Amino acid sequence: MLITHDTECALSILVELLNTAPEVCGTELLPDVAALDAFVGRQEISEVDSLTGDDLRRVHELRSRLREVFGTESTEEAAELVNALVAAAGTTPRLTNHDHHGWHIHYFAPHAALGDHLAAELGMALAFILTAGERERLRRCEAPDCARVFVDLSRNRSRRYCDSRTCGNRLHVAAYRARQRSADPVASA
Ligand SMILES: [Zn+2]
Ligand SMILES: [Zn+2]
Repeated sequence: MLITHDTECALSILVELLNTAPEVCGTELLPDVAALDAFVGRQEISEVDSLTGDDLRRVHELRSRLREVFGTESTEEAAELVNALVAAAGTTPRLTNHDHHGWHIHYFAPHAALGDHLAAELGMALAFILTAGERERLRRCEAPDCARVFVDLSRNRSRRYCDSRTCGNRLHVAAYRARQRSADPVASA
């Protein structure tokens, strides 16, 4: 799959953002401006001015809209959602090499509010996944008690569970059993 390192970074921010939602964790992990500010710092999101309650509200709203893309049944449906998000954000692609990063493109408008900034960057990352024909890599964890999302970047698109401690372990156990089965012809017979 042809996706750039920048897209991969944006997708990682996207997944982290979606998995802060109360419907995922039982509690809101971005309850206030301070938590949002810490999230921005942790994810090393650049060019963010000081945040307000309005930013928080808009990021919550964006988060639910982005999550919808992970539940789509077709690329048409996903493309419509992504187009709406990116159009509302008002993107202005420009080249930059800030903070010793190599040259890359910022899609958000200079000094955009955080909601628009994220809608442009994360929306474009989703657009690249869709144009690569890889919508099915946008997954919801299949564990019955888990609502987390993830992007399956495995070679054979075989990931079924998110990498949270519980679900990741489940995955390891399943992989271990599969290895045992293939190593032991009697058990797999
Ligand atoms: Zn950058
Ligand atoms: Zn999970």
